[in-house]
Amino acid sequence: MKVFTASLATETNTFSPMMTGREVWREEGYYPPGKHPDHPLLTTAPLWILRERAKKTNWQVVEGTCAVAHPAGLTPKRAYEELRDEILTQLKAAMPVDMVCMGLHGAMVAEGYDDCEGDILTRIRAIVGDKIAIGAELDPHCHLTQAMTKAANILVCYKEFPHTDFMERGEEVVQLTTDAAQGKAKPVTSVFDCQMINSYPTSRQPMRGFVDKVKAMEGKNGVLSISIVHCYPYADVPDIGTKILVITDSDKAKGDKLAEELGRELIAMRDQARPAFLSLDEAIDKVQAAKEGPIVCAEPADNAGGGAPSDSTFFIRRMLAKGLKNACIGPIWDPIAVKMCFAAGEGAAFDLRFGGKMGPFSGDPIDAKVTVIKCVPDAVQTSGNGTFHMGNCASIEVDGIAIVLTTNRHQAWGTDLFSNLGIDPTKKKLVAVKSTNHFHASFSKIAKEVLYTDGPGALPRDFGKVPYKRVKRPIWPLDASPWGTARS
Ligand SMILES: [Zn+2]
Repeated sequence: MKVFTASLATETNTFSPMMTGREVWREEGYYPPGKHPDHPLLTTAPLWILRERAKKTNWQVVEGTCAVAHPAGLTPKRAYEELRDEILTQLKAAMPVDMVCMGLHGAMVAEGYDDCEGDILTRIRAIVGDKIAIGAELDPHCHLTQAMTKAANILVCYKEFPHTDFMERGEEVVQLTTDAAQGKAKPVTSVFDCQMINSYPTSRQPMRGFVDKVKAMEGKNGVLSISIVHCYPYADVPDIGTKILVITDSDKAKGDKLAEELGRELIAMRDQARPAFLSLDEAIDKVQAAKEGPIVCAEPADNAGGGAPSDSTFFIRRMLAKGLKNACIGPIWDPIAVKMCFAAGEGAAFDLRFGGKMGPFSGDPIDAKVTVIKCVPDAVQTSGNGTFHMGNCASIEVDGIAIVLTTNRHQAWGTDLFSNLGIDPTKKKLVAVKSTNHFHASFSKIAKEVLYTDGPGALPRDFGKVPYKRVKRPIWPLDASPWGTARS
């Protein structure tokens, strides 16, 4: 077997002012052939799995470029075309191959390209021809398009949110694509459009049970794979929305029926699938009334993982105004404030302006007398999804609130975001994390309770407030009851 693998992955918030240009890709995760780090990354699992397989077999694995960028705004046209063509040129040079396995995200948008993954998969198909198996792993926060399902034989989304299963799903992509390449199965794809924009954390019911049920259906009765395409809400592109993707062994009628059954089940649980969201004040009141902590409060509206800046000050202001003590919050992306803290040194008390820099969604910066708790060069945080390099980081204290300031823009992944910066989150009454749900895998281990907020910010949880113009309608919740009317 000769296999080609590569990766091109980001999640594009088309409303974000922060462009994902060539420099951003180069800085954040650009690995030409042979330069991929010695551990798997969230969106490069197929490459890693194939590299391991090649050691145990006589397979020839040709590694193409892997490029990964944090969620932010549009990728400029030229930057996208350069990265895409780099990978396609590598594939052409590797031909003939027996199969192609890609690590993609599924929600990448570039200038002039609403569907980057559909574009690149279509071009891969044109190079390899009709008979070669193409597989790709996707994030469930993707826009599943017809171009993608037409070009690829196998598409598999992570099932968990937090995405703790990216390696297991990567194994499935590689195995199912291998089976297709070796003629052991004839994968056929069925898609049901749920006509919904919604959020589905799988760390809680009813999604937990739904995922377990779906997993139990796979690998029997001709059902090869089932993906629950959650949708990525912050993109103004026609194809956004929740879908069910079923891959059967050449049984299209069965796949269509199963996809629709599961889709209708998901539609019925739409209100329960997403957690209740409290205002910032309601969350603080609840914490103040609680006997003991830590109570972990998510602030998804400023989640860097969804393309937000992660420097908003709304939550800190409300904590200060309501006199909440013994809290911590992070990460606040503010490289300049970090430099000021490094210059002042640990233990220094001085006047600092921090946060609130990126735009109206960030709120105003805070001017306060702060005490520097700790300065850590090249700090990291860790979770089941890997190690996240935060750059130089500083922790400060303002009126009983400990704050982690970072140089690199990331969401909160692990409790060591705080503990590595000299803050013990287990001792805090309130632990506020800028994240939608990836925080949950780590922080739920220390939380007495987990609350979700919907404060001001770049990522409103009420999707009716997102200023879409190009999304295909009707779709819930923009339209009250779209089911039964085809989208156009
Ligand atoms: Zn995701």
